[in-house]
Amino acid sequence: AWFTDPALVRVLALLNSDGGEGRVAGGAVRNSLMGLPVADVDIATTLKPEAVAERANVADIKAVPTGIEHGTVTLVIDGKPFEVTTLRRDVETDGRHAEVAFGADWQMDAERRDLTINALYATAEGTVVDLVNGLADIESRTVRFIGDAATRIAEDHLRILRFFRFFALYGSGRPDAEGLKACARAKDKLGKLSAERVWSETKKLLAAPDPGRALLWMRQAGVLTEILPETEKWGIDAIPGLIDAEKAFGWTPDALLRLAAMVPADRERLKVLAERLRLSKAEAATLDYWASAPEIAPKLAETAFDRLLYRNGPQGLTMRLKLALAGARARGLGDADALAFAGLCQRLLARVQKWQKPSFPLNGADVLAAGLPAGPKVGTLLGAIEEEWVAGNFHEGRAKLLARLEALVREG
Ligand code: ATP
Ligand code: MG
Repeated sequence: AWFTDPALVRVLALLNSDGGEGRVAGGAVRNSLMGLPVADVDIATTLKPEAVAERANVADIKAVPTGIEHGTVTLVIDGKPFEVTTLRRDVETDGRHAEVAFGADWQMDAERRDLTINALYATAEGTVVDLVNGLADIESRTVRFIGDAATRIAEDHLRILRFFRFFALYGSGRPDAEGLKACARAKDKLGKLSAERVWSETKKLLAAPDPGRALLWMRQAGVLTEILPETEKWGIDAIPGLIDAEKAFGWTPDALLRLAAMVPADRERLKVLAERLRLSKAEAATLDYWASAPEIAPKLAETAFDRLLYRNGPQGLTMRLKLALAGARARGLGDADALAFAGLCQRLLARVQKWQKPSFPLNGADVLAAGLPAGPKVGTLLGAIEEEWVAGNFHEGRAKLLARLEALVREG
């Protein structure tokens, strides 16, 4: 159905005239053949980037030179971006970045792509062009390197992670044996990649509907400990239970929660992980909230939980609760304690949803009004009274707290 998109038809018409040719390439063709939703439509063309921009100009289509040196011009129609990339071949690679040359040869362009399922084209007429035996692999859901696996990995080590990511997303059965072996052999090369590329690819892998099988094979190939040594003693055993819980409760798949399920809740080690893989500030903070929040105790009372919520905030505790709930469910039926704990976690999660942080009725001005001179003691005293108020489950009102404050100031 995506092929009838008028914006796409217009882009293809623009390219398919006066000796030029453009075809839909890569992920869009793969997904539509598999009956899966198509996110963005990439287009390959025999025209040079300048010619693409020039044609767009004449047709009054917005052209953004998003990666001229890679041959990519993004055309924007009806607010929809289409990445149009000139056919290329890799001329030089050091395993980390490739130098590309433009060409007009579809076979060459197909062969420099990573996987057979990613190297199909669809013409403007809707004909699928298969130059690397990708259709058979789409059919059998086989994730396979184009050409010799070891050679393709040596050209770009990131392909190791892409192999497992695409296996997680589209593979069935076992991973292709030759590819798996080549990944295992080249695993120590992953350390040479930039942290950004590794994390971005890892995140996509973790966000797959079910990364469980791929992670098992990655562990088996020694690839997982190469990028996430923190998983070594901890492991990925919690992943299937988490995926089950996500489905059962309709939680949005969350790469960071899945990562948390695989690594120890240790602030220091997570800081090292975040720095090594260059996580964003927000991502690092999320993991830190999680590790800072206390573990959920088996018989935690709801009032005690409210105090934890007040002190820790909802974010880290929610992660704790989800992982605890997933773990308890995985321990399973027949285990009465696990069932009871799962029930408790569910109630507490509902409680977080409704939670509104109570606001402490006193402030610094009250302390000054009570007669304490300005200075560091003001905050200390205020904090002590707030603690008492929290310990009393937020029941004391302003009048009582003011009386308590005055008593404390009088005592000195
Ligand atoms: P999605 O965007 O849905 O994750 P995709 O197939 O579009 O999947 P991208 O990473 O966007 O994947 O890459 C677009 C295409 O470029 C791929 O289908 C593949 O043909 C090619 N490609 C991307 N990265 C590499 C790489 N490291 N080595 C070789 N080819 C690659
Ligand atoms: Mg894409």
